[in-house]
Amino acid sequence: MGCVQSQEPMEVAGAICSKCGKDLPEIRGWRDIKIKTIYGKPTHEFLRGAYYREKIPTAKHVCHTCFWTPDHILKRRESEKAEAAKAEAEIARANAEVAKAEAARAQAMAEAAKAEALKAAADAMKAKALAELCTKSDIHYAVVQ
Ligand SMILES: [Zn+2]
Repeated sequence: MGCVQSQEPMEVAGAICSKCGKDLPEIRGWRDIKIKTIYGKPTHEFLRGAYYREKIPTAKHVCHTCFWTPDHILKRRESEKAEAAKAEAEIARANAEVAKAEAARAQAMAEAAKAEALKAAADAMKAKALAELCTKSDIHYAVVQ
């Protein structure tokens, strides 16, 4: 009886970076894992540095970028991303306001056009009535504006 290595490393199904959520590539087997001492800690290195996991049972996978980027920079990037998302939401809201205002303006213009058309129709009717009145009358009036 000897010491038997468990069948397959779990990373054959790939993994997810615990810091940025990026999908990490699948490995083919134990040969894609090396143990190195990094930052003074024994660490699993996958696919020649595609991602890492500290050699303790509770450790999580970390992609190459997150592994080599200091935490304070990661945090700053995260807050920058949140700021950018917030700014984008503001812009979207402002755009929606503008669209609403434009729609209201278009509606007002349509109303005005309708009112003008009604007035023109009324004027035409008035002119026609006046013309009829002039021709029917015994005395010939001229239509004057
Ligand atoms: Zn990452």
